[in-house]
Amino acid sequence: MRSPTTIEIKGLSYAFGDRTVLHQLDLTVEGGSTVALLGPSGCGKSTLLKLLAGLLQPQQGEIRFGDRAIASPQSSLPPERRDIGMVFQDYALWPHMSVAQNVGFPLLMRRVPTAERLTKTMIALERVGLASFALRRPADLSGGQQQRVALARAIIAEPGILLFDEPLSNLDRDLRESLSREISTLLRQLGTTAVYVTHDREEAEAIANHIVHLSQGSVTAIQAVTPLSGEIA
Ligand code: ADP
Ligand code: MG
Repeated sequence: MRSPTTIEIKGLSYAFGDRTVLHQLDLTVEGGSTVALLGPSGCGKSTLLKLLAGLLQPQQGEIRFGDRAIASPQSSLPPERRDIGMVFQDYALWPHMSVAQNVGFPLLMRRVPTAERLTKTMIALERVGLASFALRRPADLSGGQQQRVALARAIIAEPGILLFDEPLSNLDRDLRESLSREISTLLRQLGTTAVYVTHDREEAEAIANHIVHLSQGSVTAIQAVTPLSGEIA
């Protein structure tokens, strides 16, 4: 197993026109740990995640993943070369493809041989408890199941880093609780470094090792999360 990927963000700034969204932000995420980015709507959480994903390029500062320089104002690796997986609020599944085709798509793009792709697809679907749904269409599944499919697709290529943008906010409270526990267990099993954006403190506490509080584009506090007493990891 390879060593987990550390994320290092230094002096990161980003503005949309004259609206500054991130100011000189510094943050380190230890390899294999999960950081929740917690803050009110509009504070810059998604912008930071898009900079990590390569959907935006820094205007100042730099991002490193392990010993790789990933992004700066001078250069920016495209998303597909960053060794990341992403899960969004709206699932972003392709409606015309089966569940298995959705999950296996990242391996199809990487030209992984068919037999290996199908095997890995079923392993990823088993990890999220959906092996028996492989041939269904996303529209036949509940919201929680669709988000599990998106999760399987995000982990299938075994990325070093997983990025989550409010993945559970379309789901009801009970589902949020059970899915946040599942995601937390999965992240620990995989040893993947993760950045998890949410505006829900309970969800952040259920998932993360550290909670990073963002306000107006800056880190205002970093809080270590201790596992609930009585809970066995
Ligand atoms: P959050 O995810 O914390 O709710 P965002 O990172 O989406 O916040 O947005 C931060 C700020 O940047 C908000 O004020 C938002 O309106 C603004 N913003 C986000 N995307 C754009 C864009 N494409 N163009 C202009 N302003 C944007
Ligand atoms: Mg957002």
